[in-house]
Amino acid sequence: MNIFDRIEAGDHEQVVFCHDRASGLRAIVAIHSTALGPSLGGTRFFPYASDDDALADVLRLSEGMTYKAAVAGLDQGGGKAVVIGDPARDRTEDLMLAYGRFVDALAGRYITAEDVGTTQADMDVIRGVTRYVTGTSEALGGSGDPSAATAFGLASAMRALLFLSTGRDALADSHVVVSGVGKVGSHLVANLVQAGARVTVADVSAEAVERVRSSYDVAVVAADEAHRVPCDIFSPCALGGVLNATTIPDLRCWAVAGAANNQLASPGCGRMLADAGVLYAPDFVVNAGGIINISFEWSAGGYDRDAAFARVARVYDTTLTIVDAAKRDGVTPVEAALAIGRARLDAGVHQIRTFP
Ligand code: NAD
Repeated sequence: MNIFDRIEAGDHEQVVFCHDRASGLRAIVAIHSTALGPSLGGTRFFPYASDDDALADVLRLSEGMTYKAAVAGLDQGGGKAVVIGDPARDRTEDLMLAYGRFVDALAGRYITAEDVGTTQADMDVIRGVTRYVTGTSEALGGSGDPSAATAFGLASAMRALLFLSTGRDALADSHVVVSGVGKVGSHLVANLVQAGARVTVADVSAEAVERVRSSYDVAVVAADEAHRVPCDIFSPCALGGVLNATTIPDLRCWAVAGAANNQLASPGCGRMLADAGVLYAPDFVVNAGGIINISFEWSAGGYDRDAAFARVARVYDTTLTIVDAAKRDGVTPVEAALAIGRARLDAGVHQIRTFP
């Protein structure tokens, strides 16, 4: 398929290829939709095997951001960027500045943020050449690392699932398995333990496990055993693709809700989970806390953490709405969430939007 056919297939508005010889920058910015507002999404810095893989990733991720924002009720569109390279080897200040200038040239149609391979420090560098960047340090007026907000939203979604299951939305006495205790997973463990939940953790990094185990009373299992542990909620907080034809039959939970993006290995896995009697809370619904938090950086009067977290807590209501819609319409929660997102997008004004 040629490039325009691929762009048309995903209905993307604009795809920008960025090159800077001096710094060696090669990046792609994909603006999927500005129907609801300026597009927002992180910058992934990754050693893609080919330019084709990089393009496929940025097209897929930017479309996902459109639905994440639409379902969360934000007046924001979906975008994403990829920088092609190994952040450990290729990250330089000049490269980040060159990238930031490309973001600036989009005049607010795309607003960037941290993602896999980029850090808050990178966002601070980018802030030197453009205001269209979020997640900078608080000293620069940003909201910092979004992981705490993502974890808080995820814990709110879990309370909604417990309400649906037991009629009580208390996490106390529930058993949650958190697979991946990095930035989001470790904050999630803190939320869960504080609320009185029983928590089991797993991570491929012994160091990450130890950090959590030394601070909280948690059980530990091997990373490849986590999904088999009998529990209430299994929470994938590491990589995508963890819910597949091999792992789904092994699940011993009644619900799955995690931070990892793209947890379903294929769209058909949503039906497979439903048939297995597992309630799957869509990743792009329950992990929206970070993007909701970031959206408050443009509130009148500047970022207010309390106001932002109060809005993040509404992931609870969104989760209830989606599970109810799925039951009502006889579809999976993913299908219900996509339909809700599409309805908002169709009602949105389809025009080129920029940040004011
Ligand atoms: P992170 O890199 O800080 O943490 C990921 C953890 O998963 C690491 O500790 C890593 O060792 C572990 N891990 C890797 N492979 C594993 C495996 N096979 N089994 C168990 N553990 C494994 O990343 P993060 O910021 O915490 O994000 C976690 C996931 O949530 C990612 O998929 C990310 O895209 C998604 N997400 C994050 C945010 C955010 O605010 N940070 C927001 C939305 C979605």
